[in-house]
Amino acid sequence: GTTHFGYQQVAVEDKVRKVADVFHSVAGKYDLMNDLMSGGIHRLWKRYTINRSSVRRGHKVLDIAGGTGDLTLKFSQLVGPTGKVVLADINDSMLNVGRDKLTNRGAVGNIEYVQANAEYLPFPDNTFDVITIAFGLRNVTDKDKALASMARVLKPGGRLLVLEFSKTTNPLMSKAYDTYSFTLLPLMGQLVAGDAESYRYLAESIRMHPDQETLKGMMENAGLVRVEYENLTSGIVALHTGIKP
Ligand code: SAM
Repeated sequence: GTTHFGYQQVAVEDKVRKVADVFHSVAGKYDLMNDLMSGGIHRLWKRYTINRSSVRRGHKVLDIAGGTGDLTLKFSQLVGPTGKVVLADINDSMLNVGRDKLTNRGAVGNIEYVQANAEYLPFPDNTFDVITIAFGLRNVTDKDKALASMARVLKPGGRLLVLEFSKTTNPLMSKAYDTYSFTLLPLMGQLVAGDAESYRYLAESIRMHPDQETLKGMMENAGLVRVEYENLTSGIVALHTGIKP
């Protein structure tokens, strides 16, 4: 009935506002917090993602939910002057931090910055050879819609890579990780960024995210084929890949 629908609508708007508040708040400290929270391991997960992308010179790449641009920076070097990388993010604070960082590192000429929602990508069909979304999908309200939108703008034969927190395969790790994310993470957020609440949200969003097999099914529903995943660090993170037929 309308009551139920009305309630859902409020919940959806709440999530969108919450995600926007979190990333406006953490943007300036985002890179520092990433290194602290993961002990630097996020760099390895990202490098692995780049290696699995089969990106080549001349390719067009979309890094959606690209934030402060770690993947974009690497892609921009790999596609070279004949290629192009679009760093897209819904949040202009994150986008600004990313643009400043990449410009300071001399990555200019083949990067475009676009404010966009992953659910409604503002690009023509069949545009990109490679699309990445790293630690972004769990923040998206309608994940199925976002995956379909990514599939639409991929070229046939193009590859989608989803790097995201997942379900650990090791029960001991799982317990330690839960304790870590719900106590230490907000504490570090408070100490370093003066914001415990945002990091509590991040921990919560990690716990709520679909597990490996569920996400695989969602990617297949979006029309991708040869969907596979690899667990990284005992499944704390998983890298899913799929091809547009
Ligand atoms: N990809 C970067 C990385 O791995 O360091 C940034 C990840 S950060 C945890 C998540 C990013 O997703 C934020 O920059 C946030 O603004 C963005 N985001 C959240 N919802 C989004 C949406 N619906 N569409 C596009 N970007 C979104």
